[in-house]
Amino acid sequence: MIPHPAYTVDPWTLRETELDLDMLAQSESLFALSNGHIGWRGNLDEGEPNGLPGSYLNGFHELHPMPYAEAGYGNPESGQTVVNVTNGKIIRLLVDDEPFDLRYGVLHNHERVLDLRAGVLRRSCEWTSPAGRTVRVSSTRLVSFSQRAVAAIAYEVEPIDGMARIVVQSELVASEEMPVRSGDPRIAAALDRTLQPEAGYATGTRLALAHSTLRSGLKIAVTADHRVDGPEGTTTFAESSENVSRLLVTSVVQPGQRLRLEKFVAYGWSAERSLPALRDQAEAAMAGARSTGWQELLRQQRDYLDDFWDRADVEVEGDAEIQQAVRFALFHVLQAGARAEQRALGAKGLTGSGYDGHSFWDTETVVLPVLAATHPDAVSHALRWRHSTLDAARERARLLGLSGAAFPWRTINGEEGSGYWPAGTAAFHINADIADAVVRYTAISGDPDFEREVGMELLVETARLWRSLGHHDSAGAFHIDGVTGPDEYSAVADDNVYTNLMAQANLRAAADAAERHPEQAHALGVDDEETAVWRDAAAAIALPYNHDLDVHEQSADFTGHQTWDFEHTDPGQYPLLLHFPYFDLYRKQVIKQADLVLAMYLRGEAFEPDQKARNFAYYEPLTVRDSSLSAYCQAVMAAEVGHLELAYDYLGEAALMDLNDLENNTSDGLHIASLAGTWTALVAGLGGMRLRGNHLAFAPSLPQRLTRLAFRLQFRGRRLQVEIAPSGATYTLASGPPLDLYHCAERITITTDKPVSCDLHPLPHLPDTSQPRGREPLKRRLGPLP
Ligand code: BGC
Repeated sequence: MIPHPAYTVDPWTLRETELDLDMLAQSESLFALSNGHIGWRGNLDEGEPNGLPGSYLNGFHELHPMPYAEAGYGNPESGQTVVNVTNGKIIRLLVDDEPFDLRYGVLHNHERVLDLRAGVLRRSCEWTSPAGRTVRVSSTRLVSFSQRAVAAIAYEVEPIDGMARIVVQSELVASEEMPVRSGDPRIAAALDRTLQPEAGYATGTRLALAHSTLRSGLKIAVTADHRVDGPEGTTTFAESSENVSRLLVTSVVQPGQRLRLEKFVAYGWSAERSLPALRDQAEAAMAGARSTGWQELLRQQRDYLDDFWDRADVEVEGDAEIQQAVRFALFHVLQAGARAEQRALGAKGLTGSGYDGHSFWDTETVVLPVLAATHPDAVSHALRWRHSTLDAARERARLLGLSGAAFPWRTINGEEGSGYWPAGTAAFHINADIADAVVRYTAISGDPDFEREVGMELLVETARLWRSLGHHDSAGAFHIDGVTGPDEYSAVADDNVYTNLMAQANLRAAADAAERHPEQAHALGVDDEETAVWRDAAAAIALPYNHDLDVHEQSADFTGHQTWDFEHTDPGQYPLLLHFPYFDLYRKQVIKQADLVLAMYLRGEAFEPDQKARNFAYYEPLTVRDSSLSAYCQAVMAAEVGHLELAYDYLGEAALMDLNDLENNTSDGLHIASLAGTWTALVAGLGGMRLRGNHLAFAPSLPQRLTRLAFRLQFRGRRLQVEIAPSGATYTLASGPPLDLYHCAERITITTDKPVSCDLHPLPHLPDTSQPRGREPLKRRLGPLP
């Protein structure tokens, strides 16, 4: 854990047994709570010290001008950045007039526990003030899954060695002071004082603040109410100013007595609604939470998670760290999407301001497949959000001289937020990634309405984009030139195989959907001629191949480029993007993240098994994994082609990306895609799960160290479990009608009363592959290889 002895390995919690102020920012990300609508970083209750204060509301953003050194047609003029909204977490404490601040006095113990089943963050500590008074402080915090607009805290303070005059200040604070940021391009744009005060009050135990943003014109209202329980004589006083609304609770507390505060916070934001309407909405949510009460909120939280784990748990035996990491990962993926409800899922979820809070292709390609099998509602919502941004995407396509819709590379509000063309708009593959998510979700959920209502239009408009972006050469082959694939160390290349294969699937899926839904097709102006044109382009798609090396080109002529000088690259110079100019990265064979290897995972049927092994062996020594979106995918394909122990090492890297802060930027928020990739490395990697049309297929295997892997899935209204042990795999249907699936090449049927067991198939023995010097994944495997 953040390789730090303070973190323990436990299957259902993340526990930090002492506080290290140098690790505060990282721990705030790990301990972040969210329901996909509200996000609270794991900042200390008292607000300070902090690494990065953070309270977010999904979709709430400010615009900022995007200055360019040289103007260019089509460059977005304004960028979007997530706003650190009004902080409702703050509960400051004074003990005999001295502020409870862990930088002063003596901290005897400090523990924080993220409980993955209860869905709460617990904190407890004992502290002696500089004047010598010792108190015990404990808090429990939740962001409610059941009441979307609500977060709550129970806070207790208890003197240990004598009577203390205790003052607790429970606050709403807007426009907090933010730390000075570094120059890393992956962090957020620094915007000063984004929130403009509009209204506020404090009365009785209730607080409220309302603000607006200058440029994006959004409004936010935050309210809080409290239940105070203290010794006789405890008094309360409330006050409010522009940016702070505060309840003061004063009490004289004897040892053995406690002062307890329950704080219910509710958030609302809108672009359209008036401030009074918003305030009413937040007040209603808060009143609802207060009447539900703390204990019942806890119970609802537990119920929600019990149900989630019942259909989504993954059990790993033989590696306790991976067991903990995969549950931690699933918990955060759920938090990112659970109640997002037609809003985007950001690359960092709502755990930090990294990447300005933007969503990328990470959502559709990596995160949604996990949610489709574990929490399908969230996928339907996320894709409906994409659908709601279609007008902006159509407008962008028109601006670029293209047909259909061009979805933004990075965005909060649906507009292009990338000012860097080569690794932004040129990454057109995001359009096919969205189409792929539509197809996968439709197949996995069996949701009958989704395709007609939403999926179809997304497929059609993206197919139109591909048809206008590509062209047939004189021999008939269909090329898509000048695009950037997933590997951002190659840009504006011709015929990127990943992009072409994903576009091919997109074109075919649109044509198939149009045939299934002729009425909708007609309404969208699709006729037989158009679907025939799509099918022609798909059939003729160019897939560059180097016949001498017998491998696919990542994009045309890629293998002819000079190879990066890995021998003379210092391991400290990774990520390369922070140490070398892009022009040099672009013209050499060096790969930031799985690209062709990802094509082999997502479009596996387009490759022969021996081609996959050769391609994997060719691209592995060129791939530096400077993106967290690589290790999981390399794990999946390593397992498929037969490098099982390597797959296990990559699984470890994806799983520990944040827990071990492998990219040194967990402080800005968690890598939600890598967390989702942990599940994928286990389920699609070791479990070998793929979609074959509308059927699930598995090809299970276990690295030496694991003695058992079991995972639960949702599939077309059924719940099933796959259990893998060295002795074989067992498929169990927990609920729903009989299910046909594939175990390797064999078709089997499972029913609720008859689990089916099958042997594991031996994997081919392959020579070892190598990685660039200094970029080998950390070894998790056992001892010498067989
Ligand atoms: C990766 C992209 C990814 C983005 C956000 C970049 O470093 O190269 O593929 O979408 O991070 O996670």
